[in-house]
Amino acid sequence: DASLFVVATPIGNLNDMSPRAVEVLQSVALIAAEDTRHSSRLMAHFNIKTPMISVHDHNERQRQQTIIDKLAAGESVALISDAGTPLISDPGFIVVRAVREAGFKVVPVPGCSAVIAAMCAAGVPTDRFIFEGFLPAKKSNRQQFLEQFVDEPRTVVFYESTHRIVESLSDMQQVLGADRYVVLARELTKTFETIHGAALQELIAFVEADPNQQKGEFVVLVQGVQAQVSEDIDAAALKTLDVLLEELP
Ligand code: SAM
Repeated sequence: DASLFVVATPIGNLNDMSPRAVEVLQSVALIAAEDTRHSSRLMAHFNIKTPMISVHDHNERQRQQTIIDKLAAGESVALISDAGTPLISDPGFIVVRAVREAGFKVVPVPGCSAVIAAMCAAGVPTDRFIFEGFLPAKKSNRQQFLEQFVDEPRTVVFYESTHRIVESLSDMQQVLGADRYVVLARELTKTFETIHGAALQELIAFVEADPNQQKGEFVVLVQGVQAQVSEDIDAAALKTLDVLLEELP
């Protein structure tokens, strides 16, 4: 069956490319990539010679027809983005929906995504979380947007880039308070990977003290309110228990 394969690619370390991802990209008739120049390096590394077309936010609607035509001719297509999993803060949703509506199979080929990589190493609760992608670009919009998480019990995960990381953390401090525990996961799977968690006030001091900490790609994980409170209560309760135990005969 001709299918659209949605293929995850590495977020830094090329060894995270799965053998299945390589096999699929080599065997399809066409690869729809976000930026063909960017992806040509990955293709060269894995000796993938499949033709590529670009599919980005501005031409996704036109490209969906090209892809559906290919599938109708009985040939499979793969969709990739610049890094990580397509559709996760990346283009692809419009194409995937159109392909499914046209009656063709869409097959996930899972792999890296920065949100999941960050979650599994940050040490914040992961049983329930909200993924918000990128924060609004304008400061006033950003602060207003953050208001909704003041009482949020779940972990909230954001993506952020080099030029706005300090500003965004400052806005979080202003809206969520200096004591809110936040983990910054930077340059995951790359040479300068850093995962650092602290109360916002300390975290901002840490980032501001070292310009290197402001460079690269970031996942910001904001711990939920109840998790924070219940841990504090647990700690207080344990202390009381220790004191009581000492008093016992
Ligand atoms: N589709 C990608 C995924 O599955 O993670 C995300 C693409 S989005 C346009 C790019 C953002 O993802 C970056 O600004 C950063 O917030 C995050 N990101 C991507 N790679 C990362 C990495 N190696 N370390 C930390 N964050 C990363």
